[in-house]
Amino acid sequence: MKTGEVVKVSGPLVIASGMENANVYDVVEVSEDKLIGEIIEMRGDRASIQVYEETTGIGPGDVVATTGAPLSVELGPGLIEQMFDGIQRPLKALQVEAGDFLEKGATVEKLNREKVWEFVAKKKVGDKVSEGDVVGVVQETPVVLHKIMVPYGVSGIIKEIHEGAHTVADTVYVLETKDGNKEFNMIQKWPVRRGRNYQRKIDPNTPLVTGQRVIDTFFPITKGGTAAIPGPFGSGKTVVQHQLAKWADAQIVVYVGCGERGNEMTDVLMEFPELIDQKTGESIMKRTVLIANTSNMPVAAREASIYTGITISEYYRDMGYSVAMMADSTSRWAEALREMSGRLEEMPGDEGYPAYLASRIAQFYERAGRVICLGSDEREGALSVIGAVSPPGGDVSEPVTQSTLRIVKIFWKLDYDLSYKRHFPAINWLDSYSLYQTKMDKYLDGEVDEDFSKNRVRAMALLQEENALQEIVRLVGRDSLSDEDQLKLEVTKSIREDFLQQNAFHEIDTYCSLEKQSKMMKVILKFYDEGVVALKNGAYISEIESMDIREDIARAKNTPEESLVKLDELGVKIEEEMKKLTKEVL
Ligand code: ADP
Ligand code: MG
Repeated sequence: MKTGEVVKVSGPLVIASGMENANVYDVVEVSEDKLIGEIIEMRGDRASIQVYEETTGIGPGDVVATTGAPLSVELGPGLIEQMFDGIQRPLKALQVEAGDFLEKGATVEKLNREKVWEFVAKKKVGDKVSEGDVVGVVQETPVVLHKIMVPYGVSGIIKEIHEGAHTVADTVYVLETKDGNKEFNMIQKWPVRRGRNYQRKIDPNTPLVTGQRVIDTFFPITKGGTAAIPGPFGSGKTVVQHQLAKWADAQIVVYVGCGERGNEMTDVLMEFPELIDQKTGESIMKRTVLIANTSNMPVAAREASIYTGITISEYYRDMGYSVAMMADSTSRWAEALREMSGRLEEMPGDEGYPAYLASRIAQFYERAGRVICLGSDEREGALSVIGAVSPPGGDVSEPVTQSTLRIVKIFWKLDYDLSYKRHFPAINWLDSYSLYQTKMDKYLDGEVDEDFSKNRVRAMALLQEENALQEIVRLVGRDSLSDEDQLKLEVTKSIREDFLQQNAFHEIDTYCSLEKQSKMMKVILKFYDEGVVALKNGAYISEIESMDIREDIARAKNTPEESLVKLDELGVKIEEEMKKLTKEVL
C-alpha cells in the first residue's frame, strides 16, 4: 500500500502530500487509526480528502494510505433489517441516538460474515450464464427472496454450484470464464457513485400506492418515479417520509436519515418492527434497510449515506423488485457539499453552493426509474426516490429546492401555514403537482373506479374556485354569495378537512386504500350534487349547512377498510336526507 502524509487538517477535510499514486475517488485510510476518507481532488501529489469520521487528533505527519479502490458497498444477503451508517458500517440503535461511538477507523465488516444462509441453486452445472442471471436464491427474510445474481461484466459456464448452508463469504458457484475458472460468493461490491447497470428504462405507468389521500388522488407517484418534499421545519417532511416507508406498496424500502435528528431514526427503530404489513402479515422491518447519518454524526458522511442508500436500492431493483428510497433530508447532503467546497476554496455558486450542485442532484435522481434488469429473464424492477428538502425558512426559490424541482417529476409542497393550522399532511393542493397524473388517471380509472379522475378533476376545480369565493366573502360578506356558491364553500371545506387532512397517528386513518379514497371522494361530491338539486327544489342553504349527515361525512375517513360498503350507504343516505329538504311546490 502506497502512503503519503497529512499536511493540513480542516474539519472533515484533510490534505495529504506524497499521494502521486492515488486517484480521485480512491478510498484512503488516514493515520494509524485508519480513519476512512475519500479523495475528492488531486493536485500534483496533493490529495484533498473528505474524511468520514471525526478528525480530532489527526495532524501533520500522520500517515495516509490509499486503498486504490473507490468508495463501495457490499451487496448480498443481510442488508434487510439492518441499520448502517453513511459508509455502510452496521449500527446499533443506541449509537444513532448518542452519536458515532464506533471505534475510530473501526474495521467492522459491512455484511455479517458469521450468519449462515440457505442457498438454493437456480442453475446447474453446464448452464451458460452472464451478468444479471440469477444463479440461486436465499430467503433473506420471510418476505424477501434475495436473488444471487452474476455480477456485472461476468459470463461463463457453471462448473460447480453449492446448494446448502453458507455464509456470504463462502464460494457458492464457480464459473468457467474466458479468463479461467472463477469462484463467486454471495457478496458483490459496487462503487457507490456509479449507477448500477440495467438493460433499459421503461415507462413508469403503475402507481406506487402510498395510502395517503392527498398524494394518491391528487399528486400520485409511480413505481420508478421521483418526488421532492420541500417544506420548512416542522411542516411534516419527516412524517410524510415515515408514512411512505410504512405504507407505500413497495417490496423493499430503503430509508436514509441524512443530517436530521438522531431520535427520529431511533423512533423508526422502535416503531417499524411493531408495524405489520397487511399484505404479508410480517413486520415492515422485514423489507426495510435503514441508513443513518444523523446530525450528531460526521458531516462528510452525509454525502456518502445518500449514495450508499441508492446503490443498495438499485441492487434490490436489479433483482426485479419495486423499491422505494426515502432521503431525509437532501438539503443536509447539499450543505455537506457546500462545506467541503468552501474548505477546498472552490469558486462558490448560488448561495455558496458549489457550481456542480445541480448536476450532482440530477445524477442522483436519474438513478431512479422503472427498468428491464440485466439477466436473460427480462425481469422488471423499479426504484422510486422521494427526497425531503429543507429550504431555510421554507423559501423554495433557494438553490437546492430549485435544482431538485428541475429534475423530479413530483412536487409535494409543504406549507408552514397549513401545518400551523394543523392541516396535515400540510401539502399545498394548489402549488403541488405530479407530472405522472395523466398516466395514473388511466390506471385509476381502469382499476379503481371509472370516474376516479373525473371526480378528482371536479374536486380540484372546486378547490381552485374556493380562494376567489373566500376573497369575496372577506370583502363583502358571505351573504353576498349565491346559495350555490355558499354550498361550494361548504363542500371545499369538506374536501380539505374530510379528505385532504389525514391523521398519520390515527389507527385507521393512517392508511387509506385507493378504493376508500375513491368512495370518500364520491360521498363528498354526492353531497355537493344533491345539495345543488335540493337548492333548486327550494331548500335553504342554512338547512343544508346544518345537516347532521355532515358529521357522518367527517367521520368517513375512520371507516375500516373492511366496511367500505358503509360509504356507499352513506351516499344513499345523503340522497334521502337532501330529498327531505325539498319544498312542496304547489
Ligand atoms: P419536519 O420534518 O418538516 O420538520 P415533522 O415531520 O417532524 O416536520 O412534523 C412535525 C410535527 O407535525 C409532527 O411531530 C406531528 O406532530 C405533526 N404532523 C406532521 N404530519 C402529520 C400528519 N400527517 N398527521 C398528524 N400530525 C402530523
Ligand atoms: Mg424532519
